[in-house]
Amino acid sequence: MLSYLHAFHAGNFADVQKHAALTLAVAMMQAKPSGIAFVDTHAGSALYDLDSERARKTAEADAGIQKLWSARERLRSPDWQPMLGLLADQNPGADRLKQYPGSPAWFRHLLRAEDALTTFELHPSENRQLAEWAADRRVKAVQADGLAGMLKLLPPRQRRLLVLIDPSYEIKGDYAAVAATLEKAWMKCRHGVFVIWYPILTSGLQQTLLDQIRQGSVRKVLRSEVVLAQPPERGMTGSGMLVVNPPWGFDQRLSAMLADVAQGPDGLGVDHRVDWLVPE
Ligand code: SAM
Repeated sequence: MLSYLHAFHAGNFADVQKHAALTLAVAMMQAKPSGIAFVDTHAGSALYDLDSERARKTAEADAGIQKLWSARERLRSPDWQPMLGLLADQNPGADRLKQYPGSPAWFRHLLRAEDALTTFELHPSENRQLAEWAADRRVKAVQADGLAGMLKLLPPRQRRLLVLIDPSYEIKGDYAAVAATLEKAWMKCRHGVFVIWYPILTSGLQQTLLDQIRQGSVRKVLRSEVVLAQPPERGMTGSGMLVVNPPWGFDQRLSAMLADVAQGPDGLGVDHRVDWLVPE
């Protein structure tokens, strides 16, 4: 039974890091003309209302994307432009954001004619909203398990691949399942770019994912972590991203983006670091 709903968390500090890394990876890959197969294994619904009861209950976006939006004219990295562009389109003239795009909408915003996007979402109501949104947008929305579904698509018809793996980790076994799936996917498509989100928890459960990947065959795994400067005593204290086969220079450009938003009055109140979990 799936109980996680991303509407409670959309636009939080973890989404800022995740969608910054995602839009940067897509934009850098699109510097070359050949088509890219994009796969979103845990898509959620494509758009979130930040004024909804669910969003207001946690108010997580206030300490996340709303801060970034307030600071938009002071951001130094030009790599924020794709994110700022879609936020402006979705929220014309707004000083405070009402709509926040989920991962399928970020992919869709950047999709070129030669690219393709397949999304997986298991939750019936999330998938219904996603399918309605996707209907006329060249997006294939599938209600199925995202890890198994993604493996079936590999290798893709397009020459290049970018997969976002963003589970809710409601099931403890998800950490090991993600690592095992990455290993299989990499065997089928060694040049693919795989972007994996994970929570940093006081329980340390994420260590299973990191250890299993470190001990496996996959090479060239970049790790980006943002950690709350004032963490809660229990629960999620930070947000992590792994990027397998990042485009050259991605690490410096992502660091520059995160440095823009880490601290200061409009900052997310986080420390950030980028290193190689597994080198080449
Ligand atoms: N990727 C989205 C974004 O960045 O906007 C957020 C996704 S949310 C963290 C995780 C989603 O995975 C939830 O909507 C949940 O219903 C869905 N989910 C859970 N188990 C799944 C599975 N086995 N396959 C596909 N989707 C699943």
